[in-house]
Amino acid sequence: MSNSTYDGRAVINGQRVWAQTGHTFDCISPVDGRLLAQVSRCAQADVDAAVAAARIAFEDRRWSGMAPAARKRVMIKFADQLLAHADELALMETLDMGKPIKYSRAVDVNSAANCLRWYGEAVDKIYDEIAPTAATALALITREPMGVVGVIVPWNYPMIMAAWKIAPALAAGNSVVLKPSEKSPLTALRLAELALEAGLPPGVFNVVPGFGPEAGSPLALHMDVDCIAFTGSTRVGKQIHVMAGQSNLKRAWTELGGKSPNIVFADCPDLDKAVAASVGSIFFNQGESCNAPSRLFVEASIREAFLERALALMPSYAPGNPLDAATVMGAIVDETQLNNVMRYIGLGQSEGACLLAGGQQVMPVAGGCYVQPTLFAGVTADMAIAREEIFGPVLSVMSFTDTAEVVKAANQSVYGLQAAVWTRDINKAHGVARALRAGTVHVNQYDEDDITVPFGGYKQSGVGRDKSLHAFDKYTETKTTWIRIDSPV
Ligand code: NAD
Repeated sequence: MSNSTYDGRAVINGQRVWAQTGHTFDCISPVDGRLLAQVSRCAQADVDAAVAAARIAFEDRRWSGMAPAARKRVMIKFADQLLAHADELALMETLDMGKPIKYSRAVDVNSAANCLRWYGEAVDKIYDEIAPTAATALALITREPMGVVGVIVPWNYPMIMAAWKIAPALAAGNSVVLKPSEKSPLTALRLAELALEAGLPPGVFNVVPGFGPEAGSPLALHMDVDCIAFTGSTRVGKQIHVMAGQSNLKRAWTELGGKSPNIVFADCPDLDKAVAASVGSIFFNQGESCNAPSRLFVEASIREAFLERALALMPSYAPGNPLDAATVMGAIVDETQLNNVMRYIGLGQSEGACLLAGGQQVMPVAGGCYVQPTLFAGVTADMAIAREEIFGPVLSVMSFTDTAEVVKAANQSVYGLQAAVWTRDINKAHGVARALRAGTVHVNQYDEDDITVPFGGYKQSGVGRDKSLHAFDKYTETKTTWIRIDSPV
């Protein structure tokens, strides 16, 4: 049994349970190294039990058979439950993965609740179709839930990443088995409890914490899982597609890594705004955002002015105690990720980039994992810090003189998640936005975001889109039903 702060037991068929092996793993806070929970170390047998519970729940139609309006009411209560426990969830998220408490509360809890509410609200407003066939037949085109949906998520926005998948999957009538990241399992477990309290029937939403190869792979390989929705690294995402193919050809959707280019032209409408957004967006969430604009291309004629302003902003992103309401840069999720970020900072220096700010590990709270926001200039396309996703607060600055050249450089990436262009020339804005190979292109801002718009990437940034009504496509099958009409008149 656990003697730590939080309950780390899995949620299977509406019950809090330890792993069948009895094995646990320690959930350590990156804020100060404290033990937060001993967590069920789920493996094949636990995943099997969760999938079986989800399957039974789906087949007996305790959720899938409810009218959309009834599912809507439960989803909205579920969202309300998050808001009613907002302070608790925000503290848990901050302690578990290190992000500043003000963002956990204002961004993570609110976005996750909004997502659950939005899909709940949507589900009784979507109509099916009748095809324009000949009068001798009626062809119904209907959407049906897929069945059991497996969800695997990363640690950077644990609640939001889970909500983006479970909200449309549940609203559409599926049962879900969620495997949160081993680095941040706590809020997912609490969400499952809150869902039960909101009236979601037991077995419909199960959470199996554990490590990727032990709990994630059995889910992706499971013969009775109909769909696997994954957010995480491109490396593991590729394995997810292989596992789907190796097993039952389950539908596989992947939201993967990014190395998003941010192009600032000399004619950008407001240089101060461009600098503030560029710096703020790469350092938000400690740089641990898939869509962080980590490759900055500045037109050569404004390079010095841009860098001067950017450097002036760096001290305001100094890491602080994430539990302090004023802190904007918190802890890196764990020591492994911290070492990874430090390795890239070392690589940047050894490959000849110019370290203009940061680069040091710091310790605003004893025992925690912190690194200074870091700015490299003089970066070239061949350097590791220009090509690889660091997933930390490291900005790589390059300069350019020609539009075609910068678009080519921006597109020279295996990723294609997001991109930005800053210019007051409407032709250039549209032309460049069209030419950029990315799922989302921002023009003269980087912070617009809404549940109503699709989110996902081109190329190796993944397959499929989260958010918006398009996400329902991932969790429903399309059925055609032909009905003969032998006209009596
Ligand atoms: P990761 O790929 O290491 O892990 C993600 C999840 O997959 C975790 O739950 C992990 O336990 C699980 N996993 C690991 N190995 C597995 C295996 N063999 N089989 C099944 N599951 C396995 O990624 P991470 O370090 O947790 O997250 C960071 C990555 O996530 C970054 O690349 C980031 O860009 C990406 N990300 C993408 C988006 C997006 O929407 N595109 C959003 C957030 C994060």
